[in-house]
Amino acid sequence: MFKKIFSFKLLPLVLALLPLQLSAQGDMSDVEIIPHQLTDNLYFLEGQGGNIGVSIGDDGVFLIDDQFAPLSGRILDAVASITSEPVRFVFNTHYHGDHVGGNANMADAGAIIFAHENVRDRLSADYTRDNMMMSAEQRRSLPVVTFPESMNFHLNGHDIHVFHLGPGHTDGDSFVYFTDANIIHTGDVFRTNAYPRVDTNANGSFYGIVAAYEALVDISNADTRFLPGHGVLSSQADVQSQLNMFHTISNRVKNAIAQGMSLEQILDAGLTEEYDDRWGDPTGMLTAIYSELLRM
Ligand SMILES: [Zn+2]
Repeated sequence: MFKKIFSFKLLPLVLALLPLQLSAQGDMSDVEIIPHQLTDNLYFLEGQGGNIGVSIGDDGVFLIDDQFAPLSGRILDAVASITSEPVRFVFNTHYHGDHVGGNANMADAGAIIFAHENVRDRLSADYTRDNMMMSAEQRRSLPVVTFPESMNFHLNGHDIHVFHLGPGHTDGDSFVYFTDANIIHTGDVFRTNAYPRVDTNANGSFYGIVAAYEALVDISNADTRFLPGHGVLSSQADVQSQLNMFHTISNRVKNAIAQGMSLEQILDAGLTEEYDDRWGDPTGMLTAIYSELLRM
């Protein structure tokens, strides 16, 4: 019986598909969505992928990012554990899959999706690459309201100022500033678990990230709380301390280039030695700094 169904003709196909399905489902099935309270009506959700900001109140739930599609049910359950209001608005901080993966499910749940205009452009281009037709699900996952520079939401008693600062992590990064609560969701431009990630396929820029950190320090104060795309809730001093490190590393790369060192030599020179235990592999960042400096 088993042999008949499980014919050898199908075996290679089954074996080829099996690892994909196991890794896609297996990785996510253990993920727990944990709510953390920030103020009386602001929360963030931790799961797998970018930290999700949550504003609750009479105007409905406003989510910042939505992680991966397989987690949407658990994300909505976590929201339902803190409020009975529906998710009405989703804001995407940038186009990466660990921040927008749940878009179609959130749209199905009734949410309107907002993002910088380059987020919609990049997702559309990804979906239609190689002359592919966009699926109905992909169409539903696209932001329906986009903006070029900044926009404001007035929701749940909050003034929420959303702004774009030019290319950094990607070319469609947004910062979501709850001005009265003094909390900024930074997307992946600011993160606390790794060196900056520069998505060069999406016109990202290390020096754009540096400029964004400077702007974040400028508009904030000692009481501001920063919710990073990845990592832990942070302060202005944490942003400033990373910024100091970026300036140090940038100056070292400049000096190395002035001495005629190649990228390979720079990667081998231990320029970030004292920081690597804390921040991990510097290769991507150093490569971005090097290539941007050569273009300046
Ligand atoms: Zn990202």
